Amino acid sequence: MSGNTTPPLSGRRALDQDQFLAVLSREEALVRFEAALFPASHQNQPASELRPLAAALGLPLSQDIAAPIDVPPFDRSNVDGFAVRAADTAPAGEASVVSAKLNDETIACGTAPGLPVTSGTATSIATGGPVPRGADAVIMVEHTQPAGVSAIEIRRAASPGQFVSYAGSDIAQREVLLRAGTLIGSREIGMLAACGIAQVPVVRKPRVAVLSTGDELVQPGEPLRPAAIYDTNGAIVTAAVIENGGDAIFLGAFPDDEAKLEAVLRHALATSDMVILSGGTSKGEGDVSHRIIARLGQPGIVAHGVALKPGKPLCLAVCDGKPVIVLPGFPTSAMFTFHDMIVPVLRRMAGLPPRPDAQVTARVPVRIASELGRTEFVMVSLVQGDDGLIAYPTGKGSGAITSFAQADGFLKIDALADQMPAETQAQVTLFTPHVRVPDLVIVGSHCTGLDLVTAPLARAGLLVRSIAVGSLGGLSAARRGECDLAPIHLFDEASDSYNTAYLVPGLELVPGWRRMQGVVFRKGDTRFEGRTPQEAVKIALADVSCLMVNRNQGAGTRILIDRLLGGARPDGYWNQPRSHNAVAAAVAQHRADWGMTIAPVAQAAGLGFIALAEEHYDFALVTARKDRASVRAFLEALSSEQSRNALTAAGFTPA
Ligand code: AMP
Ligand code: MG
Repeated sequence: MSGNTTPPLSGRRALDQDQFLAVLSREEALVRFEAALFPASHQNQPASELRPLAAALGLPLSQDIAAPIDVPPFDRSNVDGFAVRAADTAPAGEASVVSAKLNDETIACGTAPGLPVTSGTATSIATGGPVPRGADAVIMVEHTQPAGVSAIEIRRAASPGQFVSYAGSDIAQREVLLRAGTLIGSREIGMLAACGIAQVPVVRKPRVAVLSTGDELVQPGEPLRPAAIYDTNGAIVTAAVIENGGDAIFLGAFPDDEAKLEAVLRHALATSDMVILSGGTSKGEGDVSHRIIARLGQPGIVAHGVALKPGKPLCLAVCDGKPVIVLPGFPTSAMFTFHDMIVPVLRRMAGLPPRPDAQVTARVPVRIASELGRTEFVMVSLVQGDDGLIAYPTGKGSGAITSFAQADGFLKIDALADQMPAETQAQVTLFTPHVRVPDLVIVGSHCTGLDLVTAPLARAGLLVRSIAVGSLGGLSAARRGECDLAPIHLFDEASDSYNTAYLVPGLELVPGWRRMQGVVFRKGDTRFEGRTPQEAVKIALADVSCLMVNRNQGAGTRILIDRLLGGARPDGYWNQPRSHNAVAAAVAQHRADWGMTIAPVAQAAGLGFIALAEEHYDFALVTARKDRASVRAFLEALSSEQSRNALTAAGFTPA
């Protein structure tokens, strides 16, 4: 944590041991939190307020609403015609007309009748007009004929009550119109308006103060300082609070400064119903929020350290009746814990029921290993299978916000399970309660070139989901028929060629593009500039101050690096990031002097590049899915002039 002195190693160990001495299970933490928040002795009625009808949309009613009037308020005609006594019309038919004398008034909408309808008479009435005294039915104008100026002939008999809506037949006065808890939609607004209700008692939205903590945080829109990151939690928690019925007030990001943070928290607590902060919840030296919360009010912290993975540092407190929550700093951990443990409490305070549409069932095609003793959250991406939704684990164990881009939600693995077996039907909690199943599913190795090819599909309205699980993972998914295409770049030593050797029946190869792999360095570095890869590496190995950055085991690039190093293990060898971009970033930021990446990435980072070998990035196409419209659209896009030009401009070589 910047701004704080790092304790010496022995001191740090002591701190580590102090961390989360009392880690609670997820269930125990929830029980304690809810018991402190909603004690049985209390009524626990959410706070209520009166809102103008139009401003009540989307809110739950805080009490039952009884109809103050009958609707309609009087017996009303449903048609244009004549109010009559039904008995008078009994003999009427095509062969025998009945004539009636017209009363000297016409009842339009909004006109109260003045004259009764006596036997043998009729009164002209419009749709919506009040039925006059004495009349018990209405004859449609179409079934009558004028007979002089002041009489009509009736050609059809009326039954009593015909075309009359009786007072209170829609809604009877004092009848319960809407129950407490009903969510007000346009239909409910209509019912309330029909009864003349202009002010509606609704559950007052809980005011939720949201703030972030961390010396490293910068708000979006501001320039990024070195070593700083953008405050993600502030924005995402604010939005998620609003999505779940809260009135979010984002206060900003605050440094890990105990005095300042305490002042902000006291203000937040005094002016809102709930406080959610994130970060600084480890029991480390610079992590101050939990120390402040412990003295904000009673009973204080009810759980600090919950057996969640990720999300262990979650801190739950109740200060003088108000929930105060410290979410873990990592955005994905913050979201898991927020959706799983905070949303139910927030919705209860907002008078909202759990969202049934935020849960779906999906089949998990692969086994997921899990740590025993902690409830594990696993981000998943949903795709449509033959027999329902399939949930694909993505970005497991990563704190990366980017894994949100591919994920629709997450599933939970019970603390008592050490795995989730393949083919489990799992409950998935959606981040946004709306599943849009992708039209095209690409599972395998990711490449920035892929976005250039899929861009026109996205513009044409197709939802393309690309899930990065590496070449081998993609091939397995393709073999199981869970994706349309698997992008792969697998070198086969035996045939000295790429990809073809890895195909199995049911898959066919669609050529993609070539990516030049090579040595990346900062421009002007004479150890590399203008040299062959072999020369450059020889010089790098001879220079003890020269630091490399490697790649992870299993990466195609790693094979090339190891070949080039010929068994040497220079300084930096154990730095093994998992992406081409991370290698370029390490070199650009002087954290390493050289590494191996692909030309487009080096080019985009403004780095020097020595070409070494061309790698083939192709697509294993699931033959059975070849004729799907979205697959055809992809293949068309792949071979289009436009994509080929875009790929070439970005530094790739289309096949
Ligand atoms: P902390 O719990 O404060 O130690 O934070 C854990 C990790 O989450 C660190 O890498 C922080 O930089 C990161 N982090 C904390 N708060 C935020 C935030 N609001 N937005 C994005 N990352 C954060
Ligand atoms: Mg922090």
